[in-house]
Amino acid sequence: MAEKKRDYYEILGISKGASQDEIKSAFRKKAMEYHPDRNPGDKTAEAKFKEVNEAYEVLSDPQKKERYDRFGHAGVDPNAGFGGAGFGGGFGGGFEDIFGDLFGSMFGGGFGGFSQSRRNAPQKGADIQKNLRITFEEAAFGAKKNIVLNKLTPCDECGGTGAAKGAAKVTCPNCDGTGEVRSTQRTPFGQFTNIQTCSKCGGTGQVIDIPCSKCSGSGTIRKKVTISVDIPAGVDNDSFISLKGQGEPGKNGGPNGDLYVVISVEPHKLFKRKGSDLWLEMPITFDQAALGAELIVPTLKEKVSYKIPEGTQPGTVFRLKGKGIKQLKSTRHGDLYVKVTLEVPTKLNGKQKKLIKELGESLDKSSYTKHKGFTDTVRELFK
Ligand SMILES: [Zn+2]
Ligand SMILES: [Zn+2]
Repeated sequence: MAEKKRDYYEILGISKGASQDEIKSAFRKKAMEYHPDRNPGDKTAEAKFKEVNEAYEVLSDPQKKERYDRFGHAGVDPNAGFGGAGFGGGFGGGFEDIFGDLFGSMFGGGFGGFSQSRRNAPQKGADIQKNLRITFEEAAFGAKKNIVLNKLTPCDECGGTGAAKGAAKVTCPNCDGTGEVRSTQRTPFGQFTNIQTCSKCGGTGQVIDIPCSKCSGSGTIRKKVTISVDIPAGVDNDSFISLKGQGEPGKNGGPNGDLYVVISVEPHKLFKRKGSDLWLEMPITFDQAALGAELIVPTLKEKVSYKIPEGTQPGTVFRLKGKGIKQLKSTRHGDLYVKVTLEVPTKLNGKQKKLIKELGESLDKSSYTKHKGFTDTVRELFK
């Protein structure tokens, strides 16, 4: 995984907006081209075949495709980590499963036994994506949150077997215990025996004579489950945390899917965030700007004092080093930038107006260098 991975759409030779049908058909074409049976001993073809299968496994799964479209390889790469949690899962059942699904029926048993043997193979459970809204402070400092999922879990009545108490496994009447249903099919590649997994027994060849009443024999029930999530300090909008094995249960003894918690952060009343830096607009008064002042500046944690000099201009930005947000996977903190705005007083009474007028008259042009420069330039322009 050290080398840069190719774009999955590029591997299949399709564009990003391709439909599931187009993805499937592109995969079929490429998989036929590079299939090991057609390229015996060709290592390049073998590598391409794996690449094609990997691309298909991601793009054919709407959840994985969405993550890939949003986050690129990092969103589906089992080696990419995040906040210590790490992305789980990866390529679950492996490419043979997909190949089995897609070609199994077409090539029957003749294709390395894909169709028959893989049907009952362990399958990874579905991944779950859950959005979680947190406060600005929780994103900055980290938090422990509980999320409630209505999740498929093994039935507690039958322990996931789907069988009622005292029920027995009997030969499936639909497939006579073979686990397969055969029919003949015409395809663009010729006529093939179509072998399909028996839908009644799921390919096991056996069914339960009395199904569990609670789960109707499926072995799983939907249940409210509370899961605790550690939010690391420094997450931002669209950060996501993966919890391996917290997705839906696997089939035939396969591993559980994973849970992806996608973060959205509420805005703050005062602060804006840019990466790990914070920005604050702070209105000050005319006398504070003119005379200088000891300002009380809020940070996310506490109030600190900051001295502005005489003659501070509106729009001046000062920086409080290290008063921003902790960076993810680092002990470094961003900075707090404070931009000073000047508020002109309104609703003045007669006495105040008189005082300001007197002040204005007493200030000579040298007190206003920008104003003087501007009026001088205007005068020259219209001379
Ligand atoms: Zn049950
Ligand atoms: Zn059957």
